[in-house]
Amino acid sequence: MMNLEDNGLKTYSKSLSIIVPCYNEEESIPLFYEEIMKQETFFHEKDVEFEFIFVDDGSKDGTVNAVKTLREKDERVHLVSFSRNFGKESAIIAGLEKSIGDFVVFMDADLQDPPAILPEMYEYIGQGYDSVATRRVDRKGEPPIRSFFARRFYGLMRKISKTEIVDGARDYRLMTRQVADAILSMREYNRFSKGIFGWVGYRTKWLEYENVERIAGETKWSFWKLFLYSLDGIMAFSTVPLSIASIFGILFCVLAFVFVIFIFVRALLYGDPVAGWPSMVCIILFIGGVQLLCVGIMGQYMSKMYMEVKDRPKYLVKEEF
Ligand code: UDP
Ligand code: MG
Repeated sequence: MMNLEDNGLKTYSKSLSIIVPCYNEEESIPLFYEEIMKQETFFHEKDVEFEFIFVDDGSKDGTVNAVKTLREKDERVHLVSFSRNFGKESAIIAGLEKSIGDFVVFMDADLQDPPAILPEMYEYIGQGYDSVATRRVDRKGEPPIRSFFARRFYGLMRKISKTEIVDGARDYRLMTRQVADAILSMREYNRFSKGIFGWVGYRTKWLEYENVERIAGETKWSFWKLFLYSLDGIMAFSTVPLSIASIFGILFCVLAFVFVIFIFVRALLYGDPVAGWPSMVCIILFIGGVQLLCVGIMGQYMSKMYMEVKDRPKYLVKEEF
């Protein structure tokens, strides 16, 4: 592969868009840039040029300024700054829409997605894979209760969704333009990237690495936020909860039928059909509860549908370059 040397300016025939969602990451951004630049030589040798797209997700600190500082010394740095916090999913899609690279990679600003394995990921693309995904093999440094629920969530997803959603999968993914465009073609409002990546398919290579703790700042995920996110994931990629109502319905019909025969026969044989109102109250409460649960589940799906139908923009841009 040849680099064109022209007035000291090198041009490369391929480009890699590095998309970095940032929410209050002013401390991490310079450190991230420093680390990723260590991989530059490898990519230049492969005739690949970097393009950086930092997506500021409505940060309240100096994130935008940190990106501007980088831009002063590096023309390849780009920014999309949102009007408010829209969430990481929106940041990912905004970055994708702005990117023009032949390859695209999503990386967190906090260096939890080690840049050191990027060359290895790129090698797999060269070997014919369309996308290279990463998963962490342990959950070191994470509260045990969080790990416990995360495991339950992935276990449940495996059972109720046809889309492959891998335990411990990170959003750290390198992909070809074709895969990036496939992801862009999914226009849904309620986005759950882990599911979307699985849904689009293509040949994916999985790399594993040990969990790295974030370099600066703190995680934006509270337990509650993660819990709601997991519900979003379930609703976006499974309709099994919707059939719970039918299952309970059938079950209760069968039970009711058996009971009717039982009570009828008992009354014929022994008389005294009136007995056991406490048990009746329990049954009414139980069935009432199940009905509310089922209506609630339908309500959840309806609220998702409501948001899809409104088709609001996934993010609003305040500033970009
Ligand atoms: N992030 C974002 N918007 C948000 C929350 C997070 O763009 O509302 C970014 C954040 O700046 C980081 C990445 O998403 O680059 C992952 O976030 P974080 O490190 O908080 O998540 P964790 O690694 O703990 O799962
Ligand atoms: Mg992180």
